[in-house]
Amino acid sequence: MDFTLNDEQTAIRDTALDFARARIAPHALEWDEAKHFPIDVLREAAALGMAGIYTREAFGGSGLTRLDAALIFEALATGCPCVSAYLSIHNMCAWMIDTYGSEEQRRKWLPGLMRMDWLASYCLTEPGAGSDAAALSTRARRDGDHYILNGQKQFISGAGNARDFYVVMARTGDAGPRGISCLVIEGGAPGVSFGKNERKMGWNAQPTRAVIFEDARVPVANRLGAEGEGFRFAMAGLDGGRLNIGACSIGGAQAALDRALGHMRERRAFGKRLDEFQALQFRLADMATELEVARTFLWRAATALDARAPDATRLCAMAKRVATDAGFKVANDALQMLGGYGYLSEYGIEKIVRDLRVHQILEGTNEIMRLIIARGMTAA
Ligand SMILES: Cc1cc2nc3c(=O)[nH]c(=O)nc-3n(C[C@H](O)[C@H](O)[C@H](O)COP(=O)(O)OP(=O)(O)OC[C@H]3O[C@@H](n4cnc5c(N)ncnc54)[C@H](O)[C@@H]3O)c2cc1C
Repeated sequence: MDFTLNDEQTAIRDTALDFARARIAPHALEWDEAKHFPIDVLREAAALGMAGIYTREAFGGSGLTRLDAALIFEALATGCPCVSAYLSIHNMCAWMIDTYGSEEQRRKWLPGLMRMDWLASYCLTEPGAGSDAAALSTRARRDGDHYILNGQKQFISGAGNARDFYVVMARTGDAGPRGISCLVIEGGAPGVSFGKNERKMGWNAQPTRAVIFEDARVPVANRLGAEGEGFRFAMAGLDGGRLNIGACSIGGAQAALDRALGHMRERRAFGKRLDEFQALQFRLADMATELEVARTFLWRAATALDARAPDATRLCAMAKRVATDAGFKVANDALQMLGGYGYLSEYGIEKIVRDLRVHQILEGTNEIMRLIIARGMTAA
């Protein structure tokens, strides 16, 4: 087992780190405050191949591995976890098209997604179905060569822009997961409207809106795979999504830790620099250790997903749980190291804490991660 990155992986990570330093980090606080969704910068990332990291090269993707993706999302998140996390959602949707779409669907949609002419949103959650996503009630009724869609999706990241592209899980059959299909809806379709941009604790550099379907007509040709396969596709997408979100937590927390270290080298109390107090050195040691444990385990889960190992879903759930909990704790501890300055927005750490908090909730809460992990341990 080799835990060192090869030359190609190092180059991939360094490209993403350079991009984060030059194009994301300098604006992250301003985007958070102004609730600005930096579509132009996302398209620059797309030009570097980051919109389809694990989409096949034949359709304009980068054809890289899940481990490569983890390196990229961690690096981008050192600039802004929220921007990195939106790119992760876009990548997840592109992968679903590449993996479950027909040849014609891939040709039609993937080139635009790879340039981010289309900005993808993943639409699973509903007002009455969050953790229990298989209970969703958005209904797609067949009418000739169209579906008529009615219902509402809740908390949809990136929604409400002119060039939206929705990957929607909707009920075409009976209750339960096997009655769900996956439909693609292009932005501007009649019958699709949006709720307000939600006011949130963090993740302000991307919009979060309800997406409402009122007799929206969707061509049957926009269905991925067969009727009834949508829930399976949605869950498979989330395996990789959870790794990416975990990587975003690690990147954000690493940036917070680095800032805290810089501050502690300068700041003095009781006649010493803060980094000379052994109690704080021990805290720093624990923070660095927790991040390294999470990172190393996330790479293990990514390798399992790349190898299509039978326990990959379980390992991805473990990695998401461990990385998002460690990321939030380390960022929050970093804030504490700055004392009152940590609480001021200009020092940049409180924003990271706010951004990382939601990673313990979305793409399946960390309670649901435990549920997935325990499923393999108990008979229930
Ligand atoms: C900023 C943001 C962005 C999001 N983006 C998207 C998106 O792009 N697309 C999308 O589809 N969704 C998105 N979500 C939705 C997110 O995935 C859900 O909020 C999440 O899955 C939890 O669902 P819920 O909010 O309905 O909570 P609930 O399901 O109501 O859960 C409430 C609490 O109960 C716990 N709980 C529930 N069931 C169990 C159980 N069986 N055992 C133990 N504990 C349990 C949960 O862990 C949680 O703590 C987003 C959410 C946020 C906040």
